[in-house]
Amino acid sequence: MNIYFDNAATTPVDPEVVEAMLPYFIEKFGNPSSIHSFGQEAESALEDSRETIAQTLGCKSKEVFFTSGATESNNIAILGLAEQFKDKKAHFITSKIEHPSVLETFQELKKKGFEVDFVKVDNKGLIKLDELKKLIKKNTVLISVMFANNEIGTVQPIKEIGDLVKEEREKRKSKDLPIYFHTDAAQAFNYIPCKVDYLGCDLLTVSGQKIFGPKGVSMLYVRSGTKISPITFGGHQEGGLRPGTINVALNVALAKAMEIADRDREKNINKVKSLTDRIWQGIQKIENVQLNGDEENRLPNNLNVSFKNAEGESILMMLDMEGIAVSTGSACSSGSLEPSHVLTAMNIKPEWSHGSLRITLGRFNTEVEVNYFLKVLPQVIEKLREIAPNSGS
Ligand code: PMP
Repeated sequence: MNIYFDNAATTPVDPEVVEAMLPYFIEKFGNPSSIHSFGQEAESALEDSRETIAQTLGCKSKEVFFTSGATESNNIAILGLAEQFKDKKAHFITSKIEHPSVLETFQELKKKGFEVDFVKVDNKGLIKLDELKKLIKKNTVLISVMFANNEIGTVQPIKEIGDLVKEEREKRKSKDLPIYFHTDAAQAFNYIPCKVDYLGCDLLTVSGQKIFGPKGVSMLYVRSGTKISPITFGGHQEGGLRPGTINVALNVALAKAMEIADRDREKNINKVKSLTDRIWQGIQKIENVQLNGDEENRLPNNLNVSFKNAEGESILMMLDMEGIAVSTGSACSSGSLEPSHVLTAMNIKPEWSHGSLRITLGRFNTEVEVNYFLKVLPQVIEKLREIAPNSGS
């Protein structure tokens, strides 16, 4: 068996998406900036893709900017906005459990002399709105909070944060600094509708590789009127905000992946939820297990569980030998044996965080795979506990 339960790291590409993108490699390969018919064909595919994406977000197509990945989208949102306020002693807020593409960018803001704050989370990984409210100052220009966490799947109260930002905006007089709201929806888009007006966000990131599209492509929604500068320089593409020749095939694929995710969301939620529920029921039969994150406000495909007296890395490797791919912490931090920054921010004790396993399903997983996993996992845990130095404690 070859079972892939690591869909938060990346998803396979949906065959419908591959089919949509293929013509743009060989037959329709033009550069969308060229004025001849090859260029026009590519340009028209790009604009159709932008329109499709705009429909899924409920925004205008000119508010959709193509980039090379969620990392780039997040960097443009944060650093591009900061550039506009560099002489204004601006203040930025994010959470302690963001993806490194946001956290590290905030560290960069700090080095550049901006004021930054990191809002805490509770032991379920949820942000408390009153704590966030307390951090907002007159000079806060950006709040960036991820929609759903890549490690524990916790879903943040994004609409409520959007309302908070609107409230703050209304309080400020026209001569004051503006305040904007960014959310990294890379993990959320598959399972949660992202209508930008409903959510009240000004900037939103979606990534191809997490929604059954290809790697190396993403989009950033930027609400019209948002003050933002480019962070790389060159051509006039993407209104100058993201210069460089656009990869048409990848953007066609991203649009198709977003269209399918939006179209089939209910069906996919039901499918992955029933599979993850079965896994969780099975896992609870093992002793000394806990679920990390919030039981209710979590992505339907995510199970982050800790096994006492069993190292996450060892569980991962033994499962891999049985043909099952899962993750411990996040794939981005694999290679490091430090407990993840997310579990640490939630105050999960080291004896639990060391044995954490992230199981993330996708729409291509099956009941048969779940049955096999539930047969193998208890044996793996038992074996590891037998050899653990402090087993029995
Ligand atoms: N944000 C989140 C929430 C993610 O899960 C990821 C991927 N792990 C990223 C950003 C970065 O995506 P990429 O590596 O495709 O740039």
